[in-house]
Amino acid sequence: MTNVMKTQVGIIGAGPAGLLLAHLLQISGIDSIVIDGKTREDIEGVVKAGIIENPAVEVLVESGVTTPEQLAGVRHDGVEFHFDGHTHRFDFKSLINRSVWLYPQHETLIDLIAARVRAGSEPLFEHLAEDILDADTDHPRIVGKTVSGEPFEIQAQMVVGADGSGSIARKAVNGSQFAGFFREYPFAWYGILCEAPPSSEELIYSRAEEGFVLISTRTDKIQRMYFQCDPELDASTVSDAEIWEKLQRGVTGTTLKQGPIFRKDVLRFRSFVAEHLNKGNVFLCGDAAHTVPPTGAKGMNLAFSDVLWLNEALREFFTTGSRALIEKYEENALNRIWKAEHFSYWMTSMLHVAPDATEFDKHRQLGELYMLTESEYGNKLIAEGYTGWAYGASWK
Ligand SMILES: Cc1cc2nc3c(=O)[nH]c(=O)nc-3n(C[C@H](O)[C@H](O)[C@H](O)COP(=O)(O)OP(=O)(O)OC[C@H]3O[C@@H](n4cnc5c(N)ncnc54)[C@H](O)[C@@H]3O)c2cc1C
Repeated sequence: MTNVMKTQVGIIGAGPAGLLLAHLLQISGIDSIVIDGKTREDIEGVVKAGIIENPAVEVLVESGVTTPEQLAGVRHDGVEFHFDGHTHRFDFKSLINRSVWLYPQHETLIDLIAARVRAGSEPLFEHLAEDILDADTDHPRIVGKTVSGEPFEIQAQMVVGADGSGSIARKAVNGSQFAGFFREYPFAWYGILCEAPPSSEELIYSRAEEGFVLISTRTDKIQRMYFQCDPELDASTVSDAEIWEKLQRGVTGTTLKQGPIFRKDVLRFRSFVAEHLNKGNVFLCGDAAHTVPPTGAKGMNLAFSDVLWLNEALREFFTTGSRALIEKYEENALNRIWKAEHFSYWMTSMLHVAPDATEFDKHRQLGELYMLTESEYGNKLIAEGYTGWAYGASWK
């Protein structure tokens, strides 16, 4: 027997995009069902990055997801760039009076799930969507199975694919999971988690001789650091001593505080924008619609921008019946998507050394870094992009 459920908006994916959308729709009195193939513990337990931009923090706090007290002490007013033996600080506060917050993504997910529970609308975990049927009609259906194999069907007026980079919803919108525009990179990130105090108060982005290094942080006791590597590298083949040597060589004037490494992984990335973000009553948002290299810390923040546009469009539809903003969703969302795609690509190409880089390429790259860091306008451009451009749509 198939378990059939009905709602106004069926949302695939309890990631940041799906959960924030459900939260904002509920504030406007719009009913939704969020499903996710994973358990709640899995979703809340996976420690992911979490640079949250200024406008995203405003939405999370003002809409009642995260309290200012939770964000106390994690505000970052700048980042450092290290290159060619130089260090440079981008002072966001003095440049444009904005900041970012380093609040790990799983904490945001815990807050968003708590908001769904408070609203009496807990996501359906362990519900894996297999397909979207009748996508061309005004009554699309999500069909799938629970982890124990029971079939379910969600009948909705609107279906949203917030199902991340392996999205099944892309097929309903674009005919294929891969239809779109993309760029591959000839490098990946080797990431570690270690038990140690922070080595630096702010993030250090480094363009070292051997390539990119990022010194990030998680908590007072756990640190996250990365260095550029071959995408085919087997993470287990690199010794702890080699890791510390590569990381230390990447920074200037800072002695890294070392500690036991308890996780090593190789993170591949690509830039991708789906061909279309919407077809009829089916929509894509977040990583289902686009992915970016992690260098600019843009992915989740960009997902929130899509969510605000989509929330505004669905709110207009359900309160007035007008499809005007639905028809404009793709055009509206793409403006910020392509700016973030460019920013992430730019940060990546400026700070990584391609395996086939010539001496000309390397000198040009340093020239770019000097040009940017010595210019008031260059400093402001980085500060504005990193702390996040204002969202085009309002959550209210
Ligand atoms: C190393 C690294 C660092 C990063 N740093 C930052 C950062 O500092 N700041 C930032 O903004 N972003 C960052 N990101 C990007 C950010 O993590 C993603 O952009 C963000 O998670 C996208 O949110 P989402 O909701 O669109 O997708 P996801 O978080 O991928 O969520 C999708 C959800 O859908 C579920 N799902 C998938 N398929 C199905 C299905 N068929 N049925 C049911 N459920 C399904 C999944 O289980 C998942 O829970 C980073 C990423 C990486 C890899």
